[in-house]
Formats: sequence, structure tokens, C-alpha cells
Amino acid sequence: MDRTLRPIIPRPLESPVFDLSAGLSRSSIVRLFPERHQRHVHVPELESVNWSQFDYFGWVDAQTRTGYMVAPYRGNIVGVVLDPTKSTQRNETQCDLCGVVHNPGHACLYTAGTINPRIRIGRIICADLCCSEYLRGTRNPTKLQPIRSTDPTNGLFNLQMNLESFLDQIYRPKPTEVSGKVYEGHK
Ligand SMILES: [Zn+2]
Repeated sequence: MDRTLRPIIPRPLESPVFDLSAGLSRSSIVRLFPERHQRHVHVPELESVNWSQFDYFGWVDAQTRTGYMVAPYRGNIVGVVLDPTKSTQRNETQCDLCGVVHNPGHACLYTAGTINPRIRIGRIICADLCCSEYLRGTRNPTKLQPIRSTDPTNGLFNLQMNLESFLDQIYRPKPTEVSGKVYEGHK
């Protein structure tokens, strides 16, 4: 079994954190990830990051295609390593987190370890982990989006709920209650 992708249990912070607006330094981001991953975590430049615009902050390692997600979760901030699966998509695919519809190759099935070493979970997510920017219109998907609700806050609310449910499955996995999105751990 591959234990290297298990996340750490979130550590309580001094005061609860419900969003990323206070900002994070590169070194504090690295420390959010499991120790064995930390030397592989190459945090991008943060100077121009407007933290209040991110529901989660994510980036993809250019060499390994591994995704890294930093997200507020129940009063903590957590770092999640996202293992990419090879894309076999031929059709347009919708991001499970933000709902943006992508042309083939622009969404990726990422899997993450949970605190239960036997269970990995997966989500199809915008391959570049830029859900927040797509929903705020600061980045455009390659595909024209279907007409939806005109209220952009609905999309953000859905993203935050979907994110919380994803992180719940990582930190509070209940295998019997999870339908369809549980992936067996690597043997
Ligand atoms: Zn997305």
C-alpha cells in the first residue's frame, strides 16, 4: 500500500480560519503538507495573489503534474496532495467542484489519500485547479459555458459546499456512506 499520499490531520490554528483572505507565506504553505511531501512542494510566486479571490488555492507541478491544494476547512487550513490520473476523456467534462464544463483534457480526475489508509477518493477537477478564477471571471475556460443561473454567488456557494464535502471525505471518511467516488488505495 502506498502510504506516501496520506494527508496530515489538520492542526488547529490559534484562531479559526474560514477563508484565505489573511494570506499565506510560501513557507507556511509548505508546512501544511505532510512532512514527507514537503521537499516536493514548490509553491508558486505569491506576490500578486489576491487571497480574498480564492476559495482554495491550487497549483500544478509542471514536471510531475501533481496538484497541490490549500484550502480552509472547518476552522483550519489544510494542504492536500492531488494525484493526477491519465486523461482518457474524449468528451467535455464538468468540474465536480465548481461546475465549469471543460473541453477534453482541461479537467482531470485527481485522487487524494484520506486518513483511512485503505481509502483514496477522487474528484474530477479543473486540471489547472483554477476553479475560483473561472467562477469569478478572471480566467476563461476554453469552452463556452452553458447558460446557468445569473447569480454568480450561487456558483461560489456550490464550490464551497463541494469543497467541504471533498475535504470531509479526506478527513472524515465513511466508506459505507460514500457513493461512487471512492477509489481503492494502491496495493
Ligand atoms: Zn473547477
